[in-house]
Amino acid sequence: MTTGKPLILIVEDEADLVTLLRYNLEKDGYRTVVAGDGEEALMLAAEQTPNLVLLDWMLPLMSGIEVCRQLRRNAKTRDIPIIMVTARGEESDRVRGLNSGADDYITKPFSPTELSARVRAVLRRAQPALSEETLRFADVELDLAAHRVRRQGRDVHLGPTEFRLLRHFMQHPGRVFSREQLLDQVWGHDVYVEVRTVDVHIRRLRKALNGDDGLDIIRTVRSAGYSLDDKVA
Ligand code: CA
Repeated sequence: MTTGKPLILIVEDEADLVTLLRYNLEKDGYRTVVAGDGEEALMLAAEQTPNLVLLDWMLPLMSGIEVCRQLRRNAKTRDIPIIMVTARGEESDRVRGLNSGADDYITKPFSPTELSARVRAVLRRAQPALSEETLRFADVELDLAAHRVRRQGRDVHLGPTEFRLLRHFMQHPGRVFSREQLLDQVWGHDVYVEVRTVDVHIRRLRKALNGDDGLDIIRTVRSAGYSLDDKVA
């Protein structure tokens, strides 16, 4: 990113809404780029690596959900925050949107104030994790540049997969990831591995992190997956 103004990719096929979104986002000091369908969105996202994607659920040809999944599968775009824009307010759709990898969602019709607040919040959550050299969660420190992990000052030795797993959790503290999501987002879509492989690496990660008597910060969420949680006993 060369200029200081964050770049937002607007993925929307309705011209009126594009005009409105552009106007409001640019007024808030962001740069914008627009894609009218999913294919174009995937291309622009990979080319320009925007700071945020505002993604409409209802798109021609490829649904917003599918665009979201594909953005998460591509190494170049997987860390870009996504806000889903949906006309549906139903809980099940919201959950589907978040499960497919969206960071937040906003329901049409929304006010410019609500849009500003959501965009600001998601950017604020995303930026520190991506720009800081060291991620911290509870008493664990992960040095991105040096690929080093410390807990209470002691070095924790992790294999490459365990390192990537922990980094992923620490970039999204508190969020629950299913085994399938972890395979997608940590292993990448080119690799075929069985879902239970995730459990094996989680076990190794826990063992290395916790030592003999450390607090377990990885929470197993029954029938859902795993998340970081420092309140687990
Ligand atoms: Ca639409």
